[in-house]
Amino acid sequence: MYDVIVIGGGPGGYAASIRSAQLNGKVALLEPAELGGTCVNRGCLPTKMWLKAARIKKTIEAGEMFGVKASIEKIDFSKIVERRNGIPTQIGMGMKSLCTNNGIELIAEKGVIKGPGKIEAGGKILETKSIIIATGTSLQFPDTPGLKDAALTTDEAIDLTEMPESILIVGDGPIEVEMATIFSTFGSVVTLVTPSPRILPLEDGDTGQRITKCLREQGVTIMPRAELKSITPAGEGFSASISGKTEETVEVEKVLVSSRKANTDLGLDAVGIKTGDDGYILVDDTLKTSAGNVYAIGDVAGGAMTSYGATAMGVTAAENAMGDSKSFDSKLVPRALYTFPEAASVGLTEEEADELDLDVEIGNCPMSINGVAMSYGEVEGNVKVIADAKLGQVLGVHIVGEHATEMIGGVAAALQLETTVDELAYTLSMHPTFSENIAMAAQDALNWALYLPSSR
Ligand SMILES: Cc1cc2nc3c(=O)[nH]c(=O)nc-3n(C[C@H](O)[C@H](O)[C@H](O)COP(=O)(O)OP(=O)(O)OC[C@H]3O[C@@H](n4cnc5c(N)ncnc54)[C@H](O)[C@@H]3O)c2cc1C
Repeated sequence: MYDVIVIGGGPGGYAASIRSAQLNGKVALLEPAELGGTCVNRGCLPTKMWLKAARIKKTIEAGEMFGVKASIEKIDFSKIVERRNGIPTQIGMGMKSLCTNNGIELIAEKGVIKGPGKIEAGGKILETKSIIIATGTSLQFPDTPGLKDAALTTDEAIDLTEMPESILIVGDGPIEVEMATIFSTFGSVVTLVTPSPRILPLEDGDTGQRITKCLREQGVTIMPRAELKSITPAGEGFSASISGKTEETVEVEKVLVSSRKANTDLGLDAVGIKTGDDGYILVDDTLKTSAGNVYAIGDVAGGAMTSYGATAMGVTAAENAMGDSKSFDSKLVPRALYTFPEAASVGLTEEEADELDLDVEIGNCPMSINGVAMSYGEVEGNVKVIADAKLGQVLGVHIVGEHATEMIGGVAAALQLETTVDELAYTLSMHPTFSENIAMAAQDALNWALYLPSSR
């Protein structure tokens, strides 16, 4: 009898397995494919390698500003593909050895729940006290007429050795926006279509606007409030019918498929696990499903839909499966975007604060006044701090600017520690760094930003 069986070896399931084993659990991890799941093999890391290559190209192009003149002879995409395959293999090996090191039984089989505490894997029935479901998501083809022939999935995009001349991207989240950045940097004509009024609808409105402006400057056409209706062959490529304010036709070589659905084909009915209308498994704040001693974490449970969100949920679910009763606070999961410039955030947006009718103080500090941002020629961006007007607690921080994805870690810790805007205003950063803007945005919320024009 196992203490915990974890189904799925992505970032969520891997973390849950290790934490359960650290707490002296007898643990089995079921993963029929590669350890690391979507994140390591088809998501976070492969796309970051492509974005790194794109960033190197941009850095070379910007060299002249510093008197460094260089020209790009060739971009060998097969080298990026080689790297994006090599690094996950290396990481997968490390993950396997850490499982062994923690005494986790790794079973390379699909898991199917057969009844309370019973899982079938490879024709055998395994018995366990608790189950943690961490099966993530897979690509889902929208049923747009004609899409199949024009489709390029995100899984295929990371293995391209030639860029399409033009690509239509449907969607408005981080994956679509990062893909637009990659394709446009490497020369594809990119059109981004979204039914929402703006891209990045889960981010603060200011972040959405700033990234929209940057993408447009990079040559991306963004069509908000628009829907892809159908695709028909046209010459060498395709003609995409888009309906928005007006009916439009866009000629493209490829259409990116990035939408995803929860992997729930694993016998949920055998124990009565409920899913929402969107197909994701419903959990309470301790990450328990509607069935006794069955937890669901990471992408399959919707919500955060980030690798580190899945990891943090894995830790909470493991501790609870081993006897604790901790709550998981999804509001403290930071979000990040590896665009040019980067963006990152944690906590409430201004729109969410408005919806909740909260009385807030807001402070801003633009990157254009930051010495190092000016020195590096990277002045695009801003730090925005949102704090409770009465209690002073920092409720949200939204950063657009280079190194935002690194800066947000410290800010997330501050929110976790329930830091007040006053405390944040007095924090110290090294000079010259982009992080100096965080304390100054907090000072701005308190009306004493040292290096911003006085509003008195
Ligand atoms: C293109 C792209 C870019 C992304 N970039 C980022 C990023 O930069 N940062 C970030 O934080 N997130 C990013 N994400 C999201 C991130 O990949 C996911 O949030 C994360 O992988 C979720 O982890 P998970 O453990 O819940 O699921 P997954 O990583 O999807 O892992 C689930 C695992 O379960 C296995 N499985 C499925 N069914 C069964 C079964 N019945 N039995 C056993 N095993 C099963 C699968 O084989 C898979 O390995 C990106 C995603 C994509 C697609």
